Amino acid sequence: MVKVHKITGSYGANAYLIDATHPILVDVGAANMFDLLRRFLNPIDLEYIVLTHCHYDHTFGTAQLAEQTGANIAIHEEDAKLLGDDWATVSDVFGARAPSIEPDMLLKGGESFDLGNISLRVIHTPGHTLGSICLYGENIRSNLLFSGDTIFAAGGIGRTDLGGDAHALVNSIKLLTTLDVDTIYPGHGGITNQNVDAQIRASLRYAELNCKAYNSKGFYAFV
Ligand SMILES: [Zn+2]
Ligand SMILES: [Zn+2]
Repeated sequence: MVKVHKITGSYGANAYLIDATHPILVDVGAANMFDLLRRFLNPIDLEYIVLTHCHYDHTFGTAQLAEQTGANIAIHEEDAKLLGDDWATVSDVFGARAPSIEPDMLLKGGESFDLGNISLRVIHTPGHTLGSICLYGENIRSNLLFSGDTIFAAGGIGRTDLGGDAHALVNSIKLLTTLDVDTIYPGHGGITNQNVDAQIRASLRYAELNCKAYNSKGFYAFV
């Protein structure tokens, strides 16, 4: 049985500890993540830190945690290029400098992380950033989607005006509508497992609207 623990960081971004035989952490939005993980496992057992994208609120504790645990850092190659950039990582929005992160594994999409009792497939979902990814796992009782800032519950979508691509986001969410998802674990806000297909279709409609009215920032809530 795979347990997923949500750990919301200092700037409201959700990290997820997937507590499987070979545990991994999705995103690191807290400076003291090592201590936060202690509630659930011995943090040195962590094998991978997988970053859904390069934004500061999801990544700023990464280098410290990797050093403390020895876990390998994985990120899509398109976002890896942006890690040192204050603007592209939206670090300047948080009054900070871009975090210094050295990835161990550059993703392209299509890779799988074998956690022992579940396998998570990397899906490249450009749009919010060009190197955004989702992780998809088929579980015995419930198929999981770690959606980063690509989609949120209730039809939410990631903003595309920070170096993203509104057209690419539409295509990425179209791809997500082809998956059989029971539970979405988004990069912000609540986890959801009710009428998930309808929620993803609502995200697709918002993304299509966003594409038409690119300058409308009315429903952008998160970075
Ligand atoms: Zn973001
Ligand atoms: Zn975010």
